[in-house]
Parts: sequence; C-alpha cells; structure tokens
Amino acid sequence: MDKSELTRKIKDKAIELGFPLVGVTTAEPPEHLNFLQNWLKSGYNASMDWIGTERSLKRRSDPHNILPECKSILVLGCPYPAPRGNVKGGNIASYAMNQDYHDILVEQLKELMGNIEEWVGRAVPNRWYVDTGPVLEKELAMRAGLGWIGKNTTLINKEIGSYFFLSEILLGIELNTDQPITENYCGACTRCLDTCPTGALKEPYTLDANLCISYLTIEHREEIPKELRSRMGDWIFGCDICQIVCPWNKPGRQSNSILEALVPRGELTAINLIDEMELNQKDFSARFKGSPIKRTKRRGYLRNVAIALGNRGEKDALPVLKKALEDKELLVREAASWALEIIDFK
Ligand code: SF4
Repeated sequence: MDKSELTRKIKDKAIELGFPLVGVTTAEPPEHLNFLQNWLKSGYNASMDWIGTERSLKRRSDPHNILPECKSILVLGCPYPAPRGNVKGGNIASYAMNQDYHDILVEQLKELMGNIEEWVGRAVPNRWYVDTGPVLEKELAMRAGLGWIGKNTTLINKEIGSYFFLSEILLGIELNTDQPITENYCGACTRCLDTCPTGALKEPYTLDANLCISYLTIEHREEIPKELRSRMGDWIFGCDICQIVCPWNKPGRQSNSILEALVPRGELTAINLIDEMELNQKDFSARFKGSPIKRTKRRGYLRNVAIALGNRGEKDALPVLKKALEDKELLVREAASWALEIIDFK
C-alpha cells in the first residue's frame, strides 16, 4: 500500500472511531517551547509542577526525544457535547459529564494502531497520548490543520468550535502531511478575556492557572483563596465559560458525532447541591466510578459544592452546611464554614 492510500485509510478509520478531526504533521520540533518556558517562569502553572520538569521540557522540545523513530504525527480531535443551557444544579464542565475520556479514547487509539500495523504489515514504533503526554499538542494540532489556538488558549476548529479532546499518535512511518492552519480567526474579539469571572486570561493566549476555575476546582488540592470564591458561581468541577462565550461555539455549530460514552449521564445534568453535600466516601466512590470527577476526591468535590452553596446564598442549605462543620476533612469543614458566613451575611 502506498503512502497516500495508507494515510487515507488511517483517516477514514479514525473518523469511524469517533475522531472527525484528523490530520497529520511532521516530527519536527515545535516552535512554541519558549512561550511555555516564559509561562512557567511567570508561575502560571500554579501547582502543576509536572509541566515544567526538565524531563518533560526535554520531551516537549522534540518528539524524537519521546520516540526516536518518529517520522509523522497523527493528531486527532474527538468532540464532546456542548454545555447545556439553564443549568439548575451545580455546574460541571461539559467534558466531564460521563465516563473519563482518557479511558475511552485510549481504547479507540489502540484499535486504530492495531489497524495501522495490519495495513503496514509489521510492528510500527508508536506512542500515543490522550491529553497526558509531554507534547505541545495544540501546536501539533495547528500544524496538522485541525484549528488555531484561540485567545482563550483552546484549540478552535472553524466547523465545530472548541468542544473536542485532542489525542496524538507519534508514528515511526511516513504519512502525507496536512496543510497547517496559519491564520488566527479570533480577530478583534475579546469576549473570553472580558467574561472570565476571575480574570484568569491575563492577556490573549495567556492563562494564569492560579486564577482559573477549572484549575481551582480540579487540580488545586488546598483551600481555594477566599478572594476568588465568590467569583466561582456554582461551578463544582471545571468551567466552560471562556468556551461558552466564544462565537465559534455558537449553538448548532457543534459536531453531531459524539461517542455514546461521552453523552451526559442523566443524574449529572440536574445536580442537587444540597444532596451532594451529604455524599459520604462510599456514595462518592460509587457515583463517580469511571468519571473524571473522581480526580478531585471527595474532599475536593465537597469543598467545591460548599463554595457553590455559599454563592447561591439559599437558606435551605444551612442544615447540610452546619452538618459539614463536623466532616472528617478539614478542607470540607473550612469551605462549609465560609459558606455559612456568606449565607448569613446575605
Ligand atoms: Fe477568540 Fe473571541 Fe473565542 Fe476568545 S471568545 S477564543 S477571542 S473568538
């Protein structure tokens, strides 16, 4: 099979597996490493130290440091559902409304890799990542023609917006490469910067994770700084605001090919924050088995729920918050105490 036919077959299969966005780029080193280094120097990675380790930077600086035989990189985009409007309960980022995408996409990539080796007729050196590896994936995605990096720092595709996951497969075979996207279609728009409630987008293309609601509700393990809490609204896991306001995500633009396992789970579409505040460890583990939400652990999740209840300011929440003052976790007790003060004050 020649290179063109192989490339076409791989793309067709990727689309069939749930990646309607698929492109190929070379194994050349990325150009944006300096940007990352400056971002790290500014401390914008907050506690996410793993991004800036020497090993990680070395690997990010050149795909050959990950896979010496690398000759081309397949970049894949898998859409997830757009956020629902009029959320009545606590707000969860739309990507996290069902099973953990890491688990789902890895299976798809394994299957695709199996097909590639079958078509090539031998073992092909490879390495895949689902948002987990030390690669500058957004730059690779631009190079592979999937979209441009928006001022909100997400990758935006002209047809389907930015609600999609990125994955990459580094391959030890040559494929036909795609035309890179060199234009930036944000234009004069600054909606994401103007709307972020915590001002996390310091300037176009620069996110300070220390202020980002997604970071604070998911990765941050400690108390959330008091000055940010009232600006977090009722986001209890992640945040979609800078994507919701983006004109490229206007309703109706999103992809229809959403994998079943990513379609929102019924019970997560109408969260009752008061009930959530009563989750014990056993309930939490059962409720979020296989879900990205388990990453916060119970204590992080209840910390977020308590803050959301404080921001809601409804007196109905007082009994569960008072009960949470006795919780075994300091993080939960502290957030509940803050919420009680706020509700009292309102
Ligand atoms: Fe770009 Fe506007 Fe979308 Fe921000 S909201 S990413 S500035 S188009």
